[in-house]
Amino acid sequence: MNRVVLVTGGSRGIGRGISTTLASRGYSVAINYAGNKEAAELTKKQCTEAAMEQTQRFEILQADISSQNDRLELSENIYNTFGRLDGLINNAGIAPLERADLLEMDEKSYNRVMDVNLKAPFFLSQLIAKRWKNEKSIPSSEQNKTIIFISSVSSEMVSINRGEYCISKAGISMTSLLFAARLAGEGIDVFEIRPGIIETDMTAGVKTAYTNKIEAGLVPAARWGLPEDIGKSAAALLSGDFSFSTGSVISVDGGMHISRL
Ligand code: NAP
Repeated sequence: MNRVVLVTGGSRGIGRGISTTLASRGYSVAINYAGNKEAAELTKKQCTEAAMEQTQRFEILQADISSQNDRLELSENIYNTFGRLDGLINNAGIAPLERADLLEMDEKSYNRVMDVNLKAPFFLSQLIAKRWKNEKSIPSSEQNKTIIFISSVSSEMVSINRGEYCISKAGISMTSLLFAARLAGEGIDVFEIRPGIIETDMTAGVKTAYTNKIEAGLVPAARWGLPEDIGKSAAALLSGDFSFSTGSVISVDGGMHISRL
């Protein structure tokens, strides 16, 4: 039976890159989206085209992950639809609607970003981890469960015009460590993938500014990252080949995090 992975925010950008890469490696994918059904359908189509086996399934599942009810329904829907879940990729995330100077950023924006980027992945992971823990008593249930958090170079690099985003991503890095420590004895591995500058809708508004920075040397690899770059790292972590690792951070940023003189 094909292993099943939930990709939150699988409809676009990095989530689509992860979903299609996993499809090409034999996984079934639960493609979560918030409101963009058309984009989610396109991801499903691309997954179907990339699939290795006819037994793989791809389903789109609407849920606002910042809502407790939606998270519960999402988890029920996955088990009703696929009958199992092997991996959770906490990818869905948002940028502030406006980039405001740190001294002007307001509470509404802070709460909006924190709810989706930090609170939602924490409680979704808690929900799924508890379910997996209870499954351990079922003999047919396979082990090697994995949770991956998609953070950002912004976990450590400051952008003073989108502080709420940076704080949310720094929080995700700690969330990953916390779950890794708690779940290590439960047969559940936890990893953080820390992307650099990736070409998606999220970065479309700063395309020229970031291209200029990349050309000026900000990224040692001297290119934009692609959603597939993140997809490949997620597939490697899900493979089980990192068998004595948990709580690790994988930077997928073309070397951007390296302090240079
Ligand atoms: P994107 O192109 O803007 O896509 C965002 C995805 O998240 C969409 O699928 C969207 O669904 C979904 N989403 C947003 N709010 C949601 C909610 N409340 N519930 C469920 N799904 C929700 O963003 P991206 O660039 O691919 O970013 C994906 C992740 O990577 C984010 O966590 C982001 O912070 C992180 N990241 C991005 C970059 C970058 O340079 N792009 C760099 C580092 C880290 P709909 O399609 O339905 O709106």
